[in-house]
Order: sequence, then C-alpha cells, then structure tokens
Amino acid sequence: MSKRRKLLGVGVVAVVLVLVWLLYTDSGRRARFVLGGGLVNAGYMLQDPLESYDFQEEHRHHISPDDVWNEMQQQNSLAAAIRGWLPRTVRHPLVALVVCMDARIDINDLTGDTRRYYYVIRTAGSVLSEREEEMLELAVDNGVELVVFTTHSDCAAEKAAASPETRQRYPALAQAVDERDERIHEFLARPTIASNIAAGKLTVKLVNIDTMTERMLPPIPEASDLGALH
Ligand SMILES: [Zn+2]
Repeated sequence: MSKRRKLLGVGVVAVVLVLVWLLYTDSGRRARFVLGGGLVNAGYMLQDPLESYDFQEEHRHHISPDDVWNEMQQQNSLAAAIRGWLPRTVRHPLVALVVCMDARIDINDLTGDTRRYYYVIRTAGSVLSEREEEMLELAVDNGVELVVFTTHSDCAAEKAAASPETRQRYPALAQAVDERDERIHEFLARPTIASNIAAGKLTVKLVNIDTMTERMLPPIPEASDLGALH
C-alpha cells in the first residue's frame, strides 16, 4: 500500500472517530453545543456593528416608520425562507422565564442556548398580573420544571416607578412594579404551583440580571423580600 493511501485511510478513520464522538458521546454533544454557540456569536459579530436598520447610510440617524416596516418585512421574508429550508427541532420547554422587555437582554445570550427549551414572558419591569400568573401556571401544567423571575440593572420601568413625575404618566406600570413581589408570592401560593413545588416537580428562582453582561446574579436584598428563592 502506498504511503498516500495509508495516510488517506488514517484520515478517514480519524473523521469517523470524531463524528462518532460528536454524535454519540456526552462530551461530544457538549462540544457541539459550545461550537454552535461560538458560531452564533460569529454571526452576532457580523451583524452587530451594522448601525442603520435598513443598511442605508442616510437612515443612520433617522428612518421613517414605513421604512422600518418595509425592512422588517424583507428580513422576515428571508429568515422565514431559510427556516423553511433548515427547519428546527420542536422541543418541549423546561423553563419559563419572566424577563423585562428591555431589548438589551437577549434570551439566547441569557441562556447561552438557541434551542427551544424556554417559554418567555416579557413585560416592562418583569411585572405580573393575574393573567401572567395564569400563563405561568399553564406553562407548568405543560411540563415546565423551572420558573425564573428576573429583574435587571438600569431598568427603565423601575426608574419610571421611582420618580413622582413619571409615576403620574405611567400610573398602572408604576403600581405593577410596586406590586411585583406581592404577585410572585401570589403565584407561589396558587394551589397547583405550591403542590408541584412540595412534590419536587417545580423549582422557582429569582435572579437579578446585570444588563451589560447579561450575567444572572442573586436578587438585590433591599429590592426584594424574596431572597429565599435565589
Ligand atoms: Zn427593565
């Protein structure tokens, strides 16, 4: 056998071994997950510096609502076509997150995960009403095992609730921020939720997100009486 054929044979065996490792071992699956995250971040690096929403220089500082809508439709059309060619796996969520609507917090960044394991409720200030409590209970009934309530640094809704002038302008939001902990207590006391927690089928956590790094930190003690949840 020539040296070249031997080398080719060794190469084929190595590729097969790497594929088997990636596909069928725990460490290989984790390596694929981390590699996928790296590639997602490579995509972020390409898109992130593109400042004007529709890529036209004259729209860098001002773009009309109609132009925003047109660009959004085009982007959706392309993204939906790609999704048609490259369908993604349907997964049953294991986690329900309550997160502020602040655009600086990206759920893929927060979780380091693009798979579909997450139900997400987003409201300004992560506020809850009875409706959101029912949404979360529905998620738990559908198999969610972890509910995470979040707050975050530099929250515009919290700032609006803290200032007398903005409280006048956004009274319902300000009241909802005031009642946030109370609503979480209310959620925990719902019979289904309490019994699932007692049975070890559900865990509820509270975290404070550092907005700039999106790192999940323990809740700020003075801002919440729910410290036991973190
Ligand atoms: Zn916020």
